[in-house]
Amino acid sequence: MSFFFSSSRTAHTTIPCRHCDTPLIAQRGCREVRLYCETCRKNYDLKEYVHLMDEALETFLDQAFCDRI
Ligand SMILES: [Zn+2]
Repeated sequence: MSFFFSSSRTAHTTIPCRHCDTPLIAQRGCREVRLYCETCRKNYDLKEYVHLMDEALETFLDQAFCDRI
């Protein structure tokens, strides 16, 4: 059982913010995943960073969208 992971709504990635290089945090919303920078206090569209996807984000997305049709 991986209860901890399946219930997680955020994940720390290694993807650097393009403004300050802080690793972004993936956050799951109702219908979308956003990337958040703690330093800039900004949310970024997943689309802006999808080409930099790392393993942490990939795993997170797998879990986030497991119930999509
Ligand atoms: Zn930043």
